[in-house]
Amino acid sequence: MAEHESAQARLDKVVMLIASNIVAEVCSLYLRRRDGSLELVATEGLNPGAVHNTHLKPGEGLVGLVAEQAEPKQFADAQHHPAFSYRPETGEEAYHSFVGVPILRGGHTIGVLTVQNRTMRQYGDEEVEALQTTAMVIAETLAAGGIVSDEVTAETRRDSNARFMGQPISESVALGHVVLHEPRIVVTRLIAEDVDLERRRLQQAIEELTGQIDDMMERGDLARAGEHHEVLEAFRMFAHDHGWRRRLDEALATGLTAEAAVQRVRNDTRARMLRMPDPRFRDRLHDIDDLSNRLLRFLSGGTETAATGSCPRDAIVIARTMGPAELLDYDRQRLRGLVLEEGGVNSHVAIVRRALGIAAITQCKGVLEAVEQGDAAIVDAQGGELHLRPTQEVISAYSDKVRFQARKQAQYAALRNVPAMTLDDQRVGLHINAGLLFDLPHLDQSGADGIGLFRTELQFMISSTFPRLDQQTRLYKSILDSAGKRPVVFRSLDVGGDKVIPYFRAGAEENPALGWRAIRMALDRPALFRTQIRALLRAAQGRELRVMLPMISDVSEFETARGLIDRELTILKKHGRTEPTKLMVGAMIEVPALLWQLDSLLPLADFVSVGSNDLVQFLFAADRGNDRVSGRFDALSPAALRAFRQIVLAADRHGTPLTLCGEMAGRPLEAMALVGLGFRSISMAPASVGPVKAMVLSLDAENLRRRLDTLLEERKTSLREDLKRFAAETGVQI
Ligand code: PEP
Ligand code: MG
Repeated sequence: MAEHESAQARLDKVVMLIASNIVAEVCSLYLRRRDGSLELVATEGLNPGAVHNTHLKPGEGLVGLVAEQAEPKQFADAQHHPAFSYRPETGEEAYHSFVGVPILRGGHTIGVLTVQNRTMRQYGDEEVEALQTTAMVIAETLAAGGIVSDEVTAETRRDSNARFMGQPISESVALGHVVLHEPRIVVTRLIAEDVDLERRRLQQAIEELTGQIDDMMERGDLARAGEHHEVLEAFRMFAHDHGWRRRLDEALATGLTAEAAVQRVRNDTRARMLRMPDPRFRDRLHDIDDLSNRLLRFLSGGTETAATGSCPRDAIVIARTMGPAELLDYDRQRLRGLVLEEGGVNSHVAIVRRALGIAAITQCKGVLEAVEQGDAAIVDAQGGELHLRPTQEVISAYSDKVRFQARKQAQYAALRNVPAMTLDDQRVGLHINAGLLFDLPHLDQSGADGIGLFRTELQFMISSTFPRLDQQTRLYKSILDSAGKRPVVFRSLDVGGDKVIPYFRAGAEENPALGWRAIRMALDRPALFRTQIRALLRAAQGRELRVMLPMISDVSEFETARGLIDRELTILKKHGRTEPTKLMVGAMIEVPALLWQLDSLLPLADFVSVGSNDLVQFLFAADRGNDRVSGRFDALSPAALRAFRQIVLAADRHGTPLTLCGEMAGRPLEAMALVGLGFRSISMAPASVGPVKAMVLSLDAENLRRRLDTLLEERKTSLREDLKRFAAETGVQI
């Protein structure tokens, strides 16, 4: 109660001071309530009995008009304005002139500050400016919790629970606390002591900021920083915009510090953009926020992201967008979840998921607007949901889910050293997909048989220039060192399509998925490919080396690439270097044309691996990265399964080792179908090894093979439900 009273006393003091400074008879403060109405919370000059008793509905009266339009308004003869709403309890009939300014926070009106005089006077620009500055001080003080009362501050404190939907990019659930990837600077010093000094500080910070943006664009170092080119273009546009700079100067001239001026201009710009009818302007709100944040960070001397600061032990990192390298800067032990506002389920995000296995969702629109550092949060990457400041009921429901998840993990961990053997004694090799050094501990933790797919392009994607021969050699060597006796399949550089190397511009293509990519690039520009092969051969001295070639469409491509590899081997020998004990060269089967060349390819290849992600997208002509079409066709359709079976039969005929390394291998139901079709080796994300092994241990493969023989003849779009039924009837754990 005492606190409440002192808050009221402070509000009263504010209005009294303003009234005396501006020489006005009335100064009043209205704040928005939860229901959207505006409540008179303090006044100097109006009837004190009206305080907390006068409420204006949204849009009502001149105060409502200021709030709605979020800009200053003045009227010399207010009472004759059509919007004027007469409230007898206030006694305001005596006052003619009126000026009102919005109290803005994040571009939203949280209140209105008004001044009234008896005479029909015109308020000068300077007076209106001074009022706006005061409104900003009030907004900041309210936000900092300085002057609050429970009823009227709903809009300033984001204390209600909220739920956001996004696209899941991993399968787990995490509870924790929000860490904003780009920390927000809280402006605490608002009034300048030395205006010239503030002007110089701002000037220097703007120069540093524009320099940084120009640099980033020039270096093209966007993937590392997770920036979109478009976003940087927008930054650049704002940063060089004279209007923006002029508004900053004007704000400084009212006596604000550099930080407060940035905040003030951000608020005003946001308010204007929020009222634009064209939604594209609203999309740009992020740009002005990001830019202002960056500028504030320069002013405060801290330009780093949260990764370099201290993080709670249960961090849920929230960002607009983020590159893989930036994510890898976080302490893995403290990272529980990741939520991105932007970014399709593209290669960057896929890397994140594959490398970390944390609960992650993307395309979570509007979350940055609603979130504060330290908020409690739950990322449900199974349902693609984020709960902010969850209620106790939601927390308990999810705690149960997390406990269940942990119990399951413990069960899987117990299976670590158990060989993946079906009930009818079929051994199924379970391998992991990897791409960074980061993934290696997973090999031991999951108890996998080896690395079935090492995506070498990831090293290229997270660096800012082409990794040199020695850098590549070092990475491959450490991979082989930690794998020990377990086999590692290195896939040669698979770029193009959705896998972009920012510093390597191959020219725009209409259809990048069908364009100049992977082995096609390697054969046209053999220097890059040969360097990589040289690095692999050097790394594998005295041990076995397996190299796999992606996106082979014609057997001749395999032959030519193999020729290049053999040439590198000859050079290695000529230089007297130790050779690998054994060199195996394999092909990926991911282009449908290969299905009709299997009898020529299989005798030439030391092994083959089905890239089902690409094979399915090309079989159905449905872009794997496009949500609208990727879910339309099922890898468990008779059409796709027949294609897989055809490969199994051909590999058996030729005695060529066969595996499958697309995402489906990591989903127990899909993996079950693959084992039923005859696959005896599959490769998947490390987190999937446990669940897939549990499935294998409970499956009678021969029984499923017989069931599939009949099912594959049926005319259906998908066999998913039939396979689930089979699992339920026969007790397979999926
Ligand atoms: C595939 O296409 O299935 C595959 C494993 O390769 P990537 O996902 O890297 O294209
Ligand atoms: Mg592929």
